[in-house]
Amino acid sequence: MNDLMVVLDIQHGWKGSWYDPGAMCDQNSDGVIEEWEHEHSLSAAYAEYARMACAGFGLRCAIVPDEMRASNYADGMQWANRLAQDHRGPAAFVACHLNSVLGDPPKRGIVGYYSASPRSRLLAQCLTQPLKQYVPDLVEETAEIPVDPQADERYRRSMHYTIREVGKEVPGMAAVCYEPAFIQHLRGDRAAADRHCRRIGLALARGLLTYTTHGRV
Ligand SMILES: [Zn+2]
Repeated sequence: MNDLMVVLDIQHGWKGSWYDPGAMCDQNSDGVIEEWEHEHSLSAAYAEYARMACAGFGLRCAIVPDEMRASNYADGMQWANRLAQDHRGPAAFVACHLNSVLGDPPKRGIVGYYSASPRSRLLAQCLTQPLKQYVPDLVEETAEIPVDPQADERYRRSMHYTIREVGKEVPGMAAVCYEPAFIQHLRGDRAAADRHCRRIGLALARGLLTYTTHGRV
């Protein structure tokens, strides 16, 4: 099953002429929110660590290039669909985010999957499992959440929005919205944040490797 094609999409960031930083947090408490403290920068960091670790595991892994985004989230998903179509083998799409909420968030990692997709559910299970092992200081509990455009809760509809275009022309392509931790828990200086991102990236790659070993995905 090492012919899995993984596509990581850092969905916040530059989209053509405008910049969407996503969530942000003054990680080092210096009174200024710098670019490295944006969800976009931190998820780009863990995605790159995941890509490198996937290469080490022999998994094909691509990150949606910034220049492919013309206006919104759909651009990255369509790029992923084209890559999966050319690949003609199993494919998995991971929308890379960090969670955010006002107040005192639980130490929880969440992965959302489209409720109608058994493969996506399996992928979500594989990705949540390693979090408690690799980042136990950031994640004490994990959850796989079915998401749906008609879901009652707004956050389930929002998570579905991040994967809504995936696999339309590629039946069986698994897709999840990955929220490995809350941004408020990646506290510390820039080097500490980078170490957090490295461990999240390793957890992500480890989960993808587990997914390939389930076979027939
Ligand atoms: Zn986000």
